[in-house]
Amino acid sequence: MFETLSDRLSGVFDRLTKQGALSEDDVKTALREVRVALLEADVSLPVARDFVKAVQDKATGQAVTKSVTPGQQVVKIVHDALIDVLAGDNANPGELKIDNPPAPILMVGLQGSGKTTTTAKLARRLTQTNGKRVLMASLDTNRPAAMEQLAILGQQIGVDTLPIVKGETAQQIAKRAKTQASLGGYDVYMLDTAGRLHIDEELIQQAADVRDITNPRETILVVDGLTGQDAVNVAEAFDRDIGITGVALTRMDGDGRGGAALSMRAVTGKPIKFVGLGEKMDALEEFHPERIAGRILGMGDIVSLVEKAQQTIEAEQAERMMKRFQKGQFNMNDLKMQLEQMMKMGGMEGIMSMMPGMKKMKGQMDEAGMDDSVLRQQIALINSMTKKERANPQILQASRKKRIAAGAGMEVSDLNRLLKMQRQMSDMMKKMGKMKGGMLKQAMKG
Ligand code: GDP
Repeated sequence: MFETLSDRLSGVFDRLTKQGALSEDDVKTALREVRVALLEADVSLPVARDFVKAVQDKATGQAVTKSVTPGQQVVKIVHDALIDVLAGDNANPGELKIDNPPAPILMVGLQGSGKTTTTAKLARRLTQTNGKRVLMASLDTNRPAAMEQLAILGQQIGVDTLPIVKGETAQQIAKRAKTQASLGGYDVYMLDTAGRLHIDEELIQQAADVRDITNPRETILVVDGLTGQDAVNVAEAFDRDIGITGVALTRMDGDGRGGAALSMRAVTGKPIKFVGLGEKMDALEEFHPERIAGRILGMGDIVSLVEKAQQTIEAEQAERMMKRFQKGQFNMNDLKMQLEQMMKMGGMEGIMSMMPGMKKMKGQMDEAGMDDSVLRQQIALINSMTKKERANPQILQASRKKRIAAGAGMEVSDLNRLLKMQRQMSDMMKKMGKMKGGMLKQAMKG
């Protein structure tokens, strides 16, 4: 029914003449569409604005590959950037800190966000997947039904709940849960705090009291993924006043487009750990940033599309590089690409020995005393050069050398070593290029 973002972007670019690189104007036009898509997916305006600006810088000047349209290429850049923002440094999204038993987990959020359901889902997961003994307690003194609800869910999933004692305050229940968790030998105890329709002082105060009593290892904010931008305000307030360690986004089985996830991550900087995908107790997944990214962009097949594009880009890059090498062209950009490739492949030993033509380079690197930390420094040095200098490093004067070395936190002698390496590589490429029968081709193929 709706045009997908990809269609729209392709449309934008098909009207433009094909060029060698994405121009600033092309990218701007495409990113206007991306911005609309983000807002439609409920990403908050300031977050969408910042995001688009960051992508703009990244995309401008990128070479356009033959097999994808520039529009698709921008989508790929956007997609990757979305994953970057969503994932942050969150390598194991579903991991909770639950050592030192009994480990308290505080569950906070607005009423109706799915807090009680998520508490039980998480308890089930900890029990069944992690083999932990879990105790759940409801602190919702305003709604007796909420306490009952947790007890029923507990029975359903075979997880203990703290017996209900009428007339206790939330603080009293928290203390009792803490004691009971220790006495009963539980690994984890989960505190399902009271929710309200809106954030108010009493709600925050109660959660803060419970926090101070139990000193939780994790404080998980449960947010309804369908509420879009409101979710961000909620997250901001809870994080400011209580301090959260992660977010569980519920109702991601619904029609919302997932923009709240992006806004939340960008605004609070706290990781999204879990995603709720239904009312059933097993409908909880750890967070997969690539799924949300695909959803925000509104393209089911985006992932395969960009992966294909990526492969093509790499193949074309290699081919372009080889053509240049055969002509004996090997500048700092090439060197940087090689260095980065090596980092990606996990160190130099393996890759060097795989490529016959690269043996010589390895010799030079050993001579220079290079290991992986040096790789990183070499890349930093190249990054401090201007575009012109990278393409043509022999133009470097002494004063610029000093600046570049200082910019990368290194000595001029380090830079000279790098320059020597680039010169030698360039000479080597030239020689190999002249040899008959595409020896370089062989070497590149490894
Ligand atoms: P609380 O007031 O925050 O404790 O919210 P509840 O846990 O009682 O959940 C409110 C309603 O949302 C219940 O009917 C749940 O079954 C439902 N719910 C919770 N999580 C999800 C989810 O991930 N997907 C869907 N579709 N419904 C959910």
